[in-house]
Amino acid sequence: MKHLIHAIRILFLALFVFLMVNGNTMVWLGLFAASLVAALLFGRLYCGYACPMNTLMAPTEWLSKKLKWQTDKTPQWLRSGWLPWVALALSMSLMLFAKKLLGKNIPVLLIWVAASVLITLRYRQAVFHNYICPFGALQRVFGRFAVFSKKVDKDACIGCKLCEKVCPSEAIAVKAEDKKAEISSTLCLQCTNCQQVCPKDAIHYAKQRIPHKDAQIPMES
Ligand code: SF4
Ligand code: SF4
Repeated sequence: MKHLIHAIRILFLALFVFLMVNGNTMVWLGLFAASLVAALLFGRLYCGYACPMNTLMAPTEWLSKKLKWQTDKTPQWLRSGWLPWVALALSMSLMLFAKKLLGKNIPVLLIWVAASVLITLRYRQAVFHNYICPFGALQRVFGRFAVFSKKVDKDACIGCKLCEKVCPSEAIAVKAEDKKAEISSTLCLQCTNCQQVCPKDAIHYAKQRIPHKDAQIPMES
């Protein structure tokens, strides 16, 4: 499973590089638009499997931890949540109108890929996923209503928190009230990291209740 997921991510990364080298940004944006519709049914699969930023942030975070560069803190000014929406408006405007207004194409997607890697050298992946990424902002809106998403079997869960430690977007948390893990489909990238470490096989991809009450982005640290 793990190897298959890595292979899928590498294939999408190769496709992304191919399209960027050939100036086909619009094809990738079309794929992203289709992924938003798919997120209503299957959750944020784009984020977990196709996004080049997510693919590159995982090894970057590994390096950052090794070098002890990473901090657990989230900059206070990011917490209001406006940045991804401003970034989205600016990015879309530049992608659609830069040629007309400035007479040149600006590689907005490549700039975001570089930014995600640089930011992850210092901050947790979740900071970029939840507080900065303009594309993630849209994916959260659609992912919230996902019909299918990762779900915890509360009877099987022992509250060990192993899943929390491996989640790149802090979408899973053990609740203080019942000591059971709960997943936010709004934040979940459907990456299966939590499933792979759960000692009780308590996490599965299953049908959700709709609408969800889980749109909150975690505010800890
Ligand atoms: S790893 Fe499994 S058993 Fe442990 S808290 Fe998460 S869901 Fe529950
Ligand atoms: S909850 Fe599980 S599947 Fe969802 S993003 Fe976190 S680790 Fe990945």
